[in-house]
Amino acid sequence: MIRYFDWTWLILIPGILFSLYAQSKINKNYSVYSRVPCKSGISGSEAARRIMQTNGISDVSIEHVGGELSDHYDPRSKTVRLSDGVFDAASVASVAIAAHEIGHVIQHQQGYFPLKFRNAIVPLTSLTSRMAWPIFIIGIILASFNFGYAGIIMDIGIVCYAIALIFYVITLPVEFNASSRAIAQLTECGIITEGEREGAKKVLGAAAMTYVASTLATFLSLFRMIAIRGRR
Ligand SMILES: [Zn+2]
Repeated sequence: MIRYFDWTWLILIPGILFSLYAQSKINKNYSVYSRVPCKSGISGSEAARRIMQTNGISDVSIEHVGGELSDHYDPRSKTVRLSDGVFDAASVASVAIAAHEIGHVIQHQQGYFPLKFRNAIVPLTSLTSRMAWPIFIIGIILASFNFGYAGIIMDIGIVCYAIALIFYVITLPVEFNASSRAIAQLTECGIITEGEREGAKKVLGAAAMTYVASTLATFLSLFRMIAIRGRR
């Protein structure tokens, strides 16, 4: 069976390299700009509160969560969770990340279509992403026994994976849009100065790269499945 896999691993290499690059870029930018204090002296949680206030949002709570870069917005419980290095820290990186999460809050409140679409497909894509490889591998095994429908089973696995890819693709506009909202709000609310804007943009731009990397890796995995299928 191993012969069905061999060279197709190579297809994944650009995705792995790009993921490593994106990860090192966010780590570097985060470590640089979390040491640059913002002149306003506003912490991540204060920045989040101020942006929500300015936008008339009062039904979202802000909590502290452990870990590094574990910040997120949970639309179901309407809670923004800010990590250790963001919650109390008054740095260019911490306010940028906090503002990005509030960008998601504003998207949610305004019914921003890509976010609505993404939330709607999550149950489907999480199911198909779990099923795709097991189905595909069953297809490969059956193919090695010359089972007549093996090709169709492999195709079903590919379709499942393609559906899972939609989640990654739709995440890109959601993330880029949250970051551009964040930069605008940080300036409008007087949280960062004109001079601090570049740093905030770099942190959020690097964070967005990690989503591009995940999308690329998923796309290449799909491509690899198709390559394996093509050899059957
Ligand atoms: Zn985000």
